[in-house]
Amino acid sequence: MNSSFRVEPIHAFNDNYIWCIRDHNAAAVVDPGDANPVLEYLATEKLRLTAILATHHHADHVGGIPALLAAHPVRVFAPFDDRIEAVSDRVADGDVAELPDFGIALRVIEIPGHTRTHVAYYGANLLFCGDTLFGCGCGRLFEGTPLQMHASLARLAALPDDTRVYCGHEYTLSNLRFGRAVDPENPLLRAWEQEATEQRRINRPTLPSLLAREKRANPFLRCGEPAVAAAARREAGAALAGPVEVFAVLREWKNRF
Ligand SMILES: [Zn+2]
Repeated sequence: MNSSFRVEPIHAFNDNYIWCIRDHNAAAVVDPGDANPVLEYLATEKLRLTAILATHHHADHVGGIPALLAAHPVRVFAPFDDRIEAVSDRVADGDVAELPDFGIALRVIEIPGHTRTHVAYYGANLLFCGDTLFGCGCGRLFEGTPLQMHASLARLAALPDDTRVYCGHEYTLSNLRFGRAVDPENPLLRAWEQEATEQRRINRPTLPSLLAREKRANPFLRCGEPAVAAAARREAGAALAGPVEVFAVLREWKNRF
């Protein structure tokens, strides 16, 4: 059993991250939307691919799976959704994706909202959450309702504070600008924006982010807090009945922002 591993980003498309869990010999990848950068990474680093995990069916997260399997016939963990092909292990809430090469087991959390079958994988203080929770933001609602997405984000926010959040895209700076429009008095957002601006200036990912900071600064996780609710009420120009309505207003506002 080898429990010394690390997680590295493999860049794909404009702003996708394919997260690679690896040690000196083996690698597992999360959401390989494109096979080529993964194959290049494996060859350069002399790694053997041992597993693929998928969070949701969008092509920029699963499009590379067939070409990866042609070169590396490995297990593929993915939710029950026919729109994802070549899956060996369909997973549902509470299932566990074992990654024996790294001595870790990732628990599946169903988080509908961005899509209706979106899942996250959580274990060893790592959260792979695809396009549901982003650095200071959240995914768009393509197939789900605000009620579903709000509940999904609440499940993720209930994980331990020291959880490292590995999101599917580098959206943090844009999300921070929105966060500051919603909650301009929050000093955490200013500090986070300075840090993220410097990281992007030197071409480093702003991820993983820390769940403790998401809970204190990400407006989409703070829909019940007075400052965030007041900003949503001003934006809507109407009274809002509770956190789910606040969430719905924030999500629409961000779409226009
Ligand atoms: Zn997506």
